[in-house]
Amino acid sequence: MTHLVKVDLRTIKENPNAGNTLSVVDNGSTVTASFKHHNIEILDKIKDCFIVERYSKRNVLSYFHFNGRVIYKGPKVFYNKLLKLGVDKDSIEINIENHFHHMHHAPEPDYYYKHLDPKVKCKHCGTKSKVSEMSSGEFYYSSTEEYIYYENICPACGVIECVDLEYESIEDALRRKK
Ligand SMILES: [Zn+2]
Repeated sequence: MTHLVKVDLRTIKENPNAGNTLSVVDNGSTVTASFKHHNIEILDKIKDCFIVERYSKRNVLSYFHFNGRVIYKGPKVFYNKLLKLGVDKDSIEINIENHFHHMHHAPEPDYYYKHLDPKVKCKHCGTKSKVSEMSSGEFYYSSTEEYIYYENICPACGVIECVDLEYESIEDALRRKK
């Protein structure tokens, strides 16, 4: 006997982005900074949050000009740290580059919904348990060297496919809702 697992009508929600096939994914940002300072040892004091990529000095009397990437701590924390270390604020330049990428995917569904969680009876031992209490898993067969995936494993006796379930489609649920 096949047991029909119905859609919980209270959970049906229209998806405002139904049919959408393009999403923008935020891939974080890169923060770069440049500043001037007379002492190269400043690099040691900021090594936990700054990776120097290059530095230069025009002549003996001039400042070092540092360029690199801000890591770990945010740009604001880094800026304040430089000020505390005596860096002239006019020499500090911080750039934040945000990385987004566009992802194409299958159209989003028209509705979001959940199925009910009824109690069903194991064909083998007769124990009644909720659908959500049953597990699934992959089993390895050494004779054929195959992995086979099973669902609906009875939590009481461990028999696989202990019930035959059919999940109600959203179309049927919507018809029922009317
Ligand atoms: Zn059972």
